[in-house]
Amino acid sequence: MEKYNIILLGPPGAGKGTHAEALKREFGVEHISTGDMLRAAVAAGTELGRQAKQYMDAGALVPDEVVIGIVRERLLGSQPERVLFDGFPRTPAQAEALEQVADEVGLPRAIVIYLQVSDEEVIARLSGRLQCRRCAAIYNTRYDQLEAGSQCPACKGEIYQRDDDRPEAIRHRLQVYREQTAPLIDYYRQRGQLVEVPGEGGSIEQLAAGVVAAVRAAGA
Ligand code: AMP
Repeated sequence: MEKYNIILLGPPGAGKGTHAEALKREFGVEHISTGDMLRAAVAAGTELGRQAKQYMDAGALVPDEVVIGIVRERLLGSQPERVLFDGFPRTPAQAEALEQVADEVGLPRAIVIYLQVSDEEVIARLSGRLQCRRCAAIYNTRYDQLEAGSQCPACKGEIYQRDDDRPEAIRHRLQVYREQTAPLIDYYRQRGQLVEVPGEGGSIEQLAAGVVAAVRAAGA
C-alpha cells in the first residue's frame, strides 16, 4: 500500500479543515488535526485540555512540547501509513520533531501543501465560521443558513462559534501565524517540499480539486 504524508500549511481560515475532507476521501489518509485533538481534550476536561485551554482561548500557540507530545503519541500508537496533518507543524521546532517521528514510524517525506489566502479573506471567513461540537464539521454563515445554537445538518450536534474566532482572538492568531508559522513556508520551500495552491478564488469544490491535483502532481 502506498504511504502518504501530507501537511496542510496556511493561515487560520485557509481551508485546511475543509480540504482535509476531500483529501481523506481521495487518498484514504488519517486526518490528524492538533486543533481538533486539543478541543476534544478541553471538552473532556483532561489535564491536557486544562493546560491547553488558556492558550487556545487567547489565540496563542500551545507550547511545542505539549503539541509534539500528542502527535508523537498518536503516530506511535496507531502507526498509520497515510496521514494528513492539519494545523501541525506550526513552528520550526514542531517541523523538526515531525521529521524525526515520521522517520521512526516509516512515513515518507512530507508533501507540504501551502494554501494561499489573503488577510481580508481570512478575517471574513473566520468571523463567520461555525463548528459542530460533536463531529467537528465546519460551516460558515456566508454559505450556510446556520447560527450558533443550530443543529448540525450532518450529526445533529450543537453548532457553536469557537472562542478563538472572535475578532480580538482572530487578530492575535494572524499575528502568531505571521511570526511563528509563516517561517515554515521558506523552511519547506528550501527543502523542495512546498507546493503552493490557491486557497481562494473559486468554490470549495474547485479549490479542493486543486489541492487534490497538487498532491497527485507532487507524487502521491
Ligand atoms: P486550529 O483548529 O488548528 O486553528 O487550532 C486552534 C488552536 O489550537 C490554536 O489557535 C492553538 O491555540 C492550538 N493549536 C492547534 N494546533 C497547534 C499546534 N500545532 N501548535 C500549537 N498550538 C496549536
